[in-house]
Amino acid sequence: RKLYAVDGWGAPYFAVSDQGHLCVKPEGDGGPVIDLFTLASTLKDEGLEMPLLFRFPDIVNHRLHLLQGCFDKAVARYEYQGSYRGVFPVKCNHDRELISTILDCGAKFGWGLEVGSKPELLMAMSLLGQAPGSLLICNGYKDQDYIELVVQCWRLGIEAVVVLEQFKELGVLLRVAQRMGVRPVLGVRAKLSTRHEGHWGSTSGEKAKFGLRPREIVAVVRQLAALGMTDCLQLLHFHIGSQITNIRVVKEAMSEAAYLYAELVDMGAGMRVIDCGGGLGIDYDGSNTDAPASLSYTMQNYANDVVCSLRDVCLERGIPMPTIVSESGRALASHHAVMVFDAAAAGAQPGRPARAVGKGRFLLCSFREVLDGLEATACSLREAYSDAVYFKEEALRAFKLGVLSLEERAAVDLLFDATCNRILLLAAAAKLPLPEALQPSTRPHSATYHVNLSIFRSAPDTWAIEQVFPILPIHRLDEEPTVAATLADLTCDSDGKIDRFISPVGGSEAAPVLPLHELRSGESYLLAMFLTGVYQEVMGSAHNMFGSTHCVVVRAAECCVPPMPDDTLIHDGEGKILGNGFVVDHVLRGETMADVLTRCQHSGSDMLLAMRAAASAAVLEGRMSSEAAEALVQTFTRQMHSYTYLSL
Ligand code: PLP
Repeated sequence: RKLYAVDGWGAPYFAVSDQGHLCVKPEGDGGPVIDLFTLASTLKDEGLEMPLLFRFPDIVNHRLHLLQGCFDKAVARYEYQGSYRGVFPVKCNHDRELISTILDCGAKFGWGLEVGSKPELLMAMSLLGQAPGSLLICNGYKDQDYIELVVQCWRLGIEAVVVLEQFKELGVLLRVAQRMGVRPVLGVRAKLSTRHEGHWGSTSGEKAKFGLRPREIVAVVRQLAALGMTDCLQLLHFHIGSQITNIRVVKEAMSEAAYLYAELVDMGAGMRVIDCGGGLGIDYDGSNTDAPASLSYTMQNYANDVVCSLRDVCLERGIPMPTIVSESGRALASHHAVMVFDAAAAGAQPGRPARAVGKGRFLLCSFREVLDGLEATACSLREAYSDAVYFKEEALRAFKLGVLSLEERAAVDLLFDATCNRILLLAAAAKLPLPEALQPSTRPHSATYHVNLSIFRSAPDTWAIEQVFPILPIHRLDEEPTVAATLADLTCDSDGKIDRFISPVGGSEAAPVLPLHELRSGESYLLAMFLTGVYQEVMGSAHNMFGSTHCVVVRAAECCVPPMPDDTLIHDGEGKILGNGFVVDHVLRGETMADVLTRCQHSGSDMLLAMRAAASAAVLEGRMSSEAAEALVQTFTRQMHSYTYLSL
């Protein structure tokens, strides 16, 4: 039950029940407990096919309050004379429901949105237009149309700030503002020299793609001064990259940005906001270290350092303390989405070698002793591996001399795989070094579980940047896993695999295999990938035409639900599934084959016409009966309107 380091990366939202099921606690400890396995299996039994993306908006609410609470605490602790407001960077996940949840939950704290393109701006306008005073940070590259839309935001009463990412945007902004008769509110995005070393570190430093260099910021202020408009410059923004793993980087960046801010005040700008971008990390592997998939600080440390660094500089320079804005996406929304999928088949499982009876009896018995005698020490693993290789080679020689039967050779093969599998499991569980030949780059021996999922659609970062996400079975967690496996997805792409996992026992080193259970015939084996709530859905693509997945939204129940055990579900009068304190609010069905085909200009109705014509021709030419032709057209039509994944 301690396997998969659930407490490390998952607390307080994910835990393992006494039954060995993975449970979700959207409100953290003390709130409803959702038995994810029971819920997913029930939905599957009721006809909703895997994979299923579960969304828990209450987790977003919980994290929003956590982040606001950390900043409020820091403001009180350092007697900071300003406040904190968050904005959600919508590029992390454009889901309407998620964004509405953030706006609803954050309204009382003055939260808003951050956008980086015209479509995102249109979306934000429509969402914020009826809530005058909401904050809107307008980042990204801008043309005249973009700026005209921001002017409309001002007219609607939205507190929008145009953040210059490039010097030349100033000219466009000033021209549009003059033409439309408004006094603009603008900010500058600074290229800080502080760098962070993680994958997203290239967003920071002087060579960063975005932002203005100090000389360009000075030029902006001078140009505004010449027009008597320095008061329009009100915000300083920086973003040094996502998933900052070490708090030292935050401190350094804050200190550099705070002095920059103070200089802008001294130059006469109407500064009132500092926007410190995103970067607040989450702990994917639960190791609590500054490894790329983790972080060695808490949310409270982050808030303290942001507030304290800024306060110190403001006190030193005798300037008013600005409103602090952050654009946290990953820290806010990663936990709320869980992708549940089933294993379609396990290729090359170790299997159970038959008992030896023939001439190879001695070899097979000796080999079995090696397997049975394996111990969790580096020395035993090394020795067992070299014995296994020896026996395999001996068996091959004996087969070539006609001494070993095919069945015995197959048994040796199985023993070899079983030994390698056990070595991998013991090494993973006890964090022991693997024999050279079993290292991930050279290892051919782990079992491959084929899973009903496209990583290009649902977890593209596993492929694009070798991101590790926690992945584990959501049941049988009270049973020792016996198979060391890698995962292969449904796409016909050799990159469509996962062979880097978080360490099953904690620690920052990625594991080459995932401990899993043997599949049982006639029984589903359900797995889940966690912390996928940002960047995965927006970056996912339709490789092999696998479309969007079904999405199941689960909320705390507002209606009165009778108390019942956590693994019990009932239906209400409208057929909705209710559990102990929660309800399946609604299901958004994933794309059908017709949907994904239409996206590539293959019209469903034209295809159907073509099929009808082909079937009629086959009937006329005597290759098919008219009943068979009708059945073909019906099957084709039904499939067109079906889910793109496997029906298992
Ligand atoms: N703000 C800007 C300008 C960004 O580019 C990003 C993402 O890289 C974010 C905010 C969100 O960052 P994070 O997800 O690390 O909070």
